[in-house]
Amino acid sequence: MSIEGAAMKNILSIALTGLLWLLVQPASAAINVLACEPEWAALVNEIAGDKAAVYSATTALQDPHHIEARPSLIARARNADLVICSGSELEVGWLPLLLTQSGNAKIQPGMPGFLEASQLVFRLEIPKILDRALGDIHPAGNPHIHLDPRNIAKVAEALKDRLAQIDPANAGTYSSRSAAFQQRWRDAIVRWEAEAAPLKGLTMLVHHKNMSYLNAWLGLREVGSLEPKPGMPPTTAHLAGLVARMQAEPAKVIVYAAYNSPQAAEFLSARSKIPAVMLPFTVGGSDRAKDLFGLFDDTLARLLEVLK
Ligand SMILES: [Zn+2]
Repeated sequence: MSIEGAAMKNILSIALTGLLWLLVQPASAAINVLACEPEWAALVNEIAGDKAAVYSATTALQDPHHIEARPSLIARARNADLVICSGSELEVGWLPLLLTQSGNAKIQPGMPGFLEASQLVFRLEIPKILDRALGDIHPAGNPHIHLDPRNIAKVAEALKDRLAQIDPANAGTYSSRSAAFQQRWRDAIVRWEAEAAPLKGLTMLVHHKNMSYLNAWLGLREVGSLEPKPGMPPTTAHLAGLVARMQAEPAKVIVYAAYNSPQAAEFLSARSKIPAVMLPFTVGGSDRAKDLFGLFDDTLARLLEVLK
């Protein structure tokens, strides 16, 4: 084959590859979004609909503190127009590497393609003294902000603006979908607060300190944690201490997230006769938590079950 012939073959194959690529792209998805956690992927779906192809780096059954920046995720980051994460160092173990390895300038911190949800809300538990000896503590405050639905509303507002900035052609869609979502969400919050009224003051042992925003919203009272220090797995000695404490002053419920192993909660429950309840924690953590509305419906239903 002549050089010209080979060149022509190359051009044809490039053109064909391009055509195939166009064919496999969802027709209307204008942008690619990589979410660090399922709750943010679900929120992007609410605001962007089919204008965004969304992928979540973690599932509800994975601990968002600890995953690996595996090659498939790096590829997702490389093609992303927007990365949305809880931030406040929740993903400090893997996100910085993912962003660096992506070689994608659009999604670096400070760029429009990077949105850190926790920076948009009032953060709880910002430590007064920073001491790593206190455990895998979150030095920027508690990053698990999404179980207060009022925080979701704030993030939704910023997300709508960010989507419009990245993809101005579809700004109208983002704006109208956002308005409709905010209305449904406000109505849902009113309903949830009414349903959850009996939960006020409920005492709770948590597995990890990831229920703080839920508790602050509804007036629940956290009285201890199964982890001896935040981020450290429960130890027999610590659990034995809790069994003794619960005999003197029992909490009403022990909760753990869908991604936690139930072992420690069940151990303590069996010895203290306090019910252990799995909460979905995020979208996909239970059958009912199919979207953000289902997440809160199911969380409240599971807690209210304790009072029956
Ligand atoms: Zn945490």
